Amino acid sequence: MKQFIGVLLILILSISTVACSSTTGGDEKVVGIAMPTKSSERWVKDGENMKAEFEKLGYKVDLQYAEDVVENQLSQIENMITKGADILVIASIDGEALTDVLEQAKRSDIPVIAYDRLIMNSDHISYYATFDNFQVGVLQGEYIVDRLGLSEGKGPFNIELFAGSPDDNNAYFFWDGAMSILQPYIDSGDLVVRSGQTDFDQAATLRWDGSKAQERMDNLLSAHYSGERVDVVYSPFDGISRGIISSLKAVGYGSSSNPMPIVTGQDAELASVKSIIAGEQTQTVFKDTRELAKIAVEMADSVLKGEEPEVNDTETYDNGVKVVPSYLLEPISVDINNYKEVLVDTEYYTEEDLQ
Ligand code: BGC
Repeated sequence: MKQFIGVLLILILSISTVACSSTTGGDEKVVGIAMPTKSSERWVKDGENMKAEFEKLGYKVDLQYAEDVVENQLSQIENMITKGADILVIASIDGEALTDVLEQAKRSDIPVIAYDRLIMNSDHISYYATFDNFQVGVLQGEYIVDRLGLSEGKGPFNIELFAGSPDDNNAYFFWDGAMSILQPYIDSGDLVVRSGQTDFDQAATLRWDGSKAQERMDNLLSAHYSGERVDVVYSPFDGISRGIISSLKAVGYGSSSNPMPIVTGQDAELASVKSIIAGEQTQTVFKDTRELAKIAVEMADSVLKGEEPEVNDTETYDNGVKVVPSYLLEPISVDINNYKEVLVDTEYYTEEDLQ
């Protein structure tokens, strides 16, 4: 019997050793992940998803959030370099601020993958994992056109425009995508921007800050909308949308006699999906961060193994020094009619989350 148990133990031990070694493809290599902030849900999910995927492959993960303070992110990345990370995956706060720290990474031979946001002015970026950012703006713009019936000749309607953070390359792509759809209607007078603030710089929202957007919306409403209705607010991001909605509610929008304007958004953040269900925010754009995490992890894993990762765009993302080979995922427009199918059926949220 003792002998039998002994043999059994040896057998179990050897099976578990085989099982372990087959999952330790990463050779205990360390991945440094620098994320911008925990204040927006999507980055929390991005970080958690990547950490889990990397760990499944046997990598160690150093995951850091910088609370939207550029200096924090710089010192976090410097630390990762000093501690000997084998690769860096970075979603930058200010895409223009990392040139020097990436020179350090280059000197230490640590490859870098840009995550969702392109890092500008550095040749030391191997790959870029993101969504089709121009298409995000197109989806938002098309939603406005469809909902208003602009292509059937309805109008004119009053619109105000918001843009994202001027230090984030994505903000320009969202804006350009949206304007590719909206500009012809602004030019024809079917969409009227009463404030006249039609330039990116006038519409920009530093660090995507919802309270800054709220403040700007307060000013727009009091300066340009006494006795007038705003019919649409183009917003590129859910956090900005919620700031805009607070401002609109404060002056009485959201009743049956004075309904909410159409307000777009992005990221399908929980609070915004709830707001869509409650009839406040109108639309958002879902970007499946689980898929993005997988792509970034596959890229990093390939780079570390000396292989070529899969990319599907080698033309669009010029960071001022090089065109960075990219993998773009498809964004999906979401509103009250399809949120269940897109978000619940795919288990991004449960029904309970949305209560
Ligand atoms: C991301 C968006 C996000 C925004 C604010 C952008 O770079 O692509 O998904 O809404 O940053 O965090």
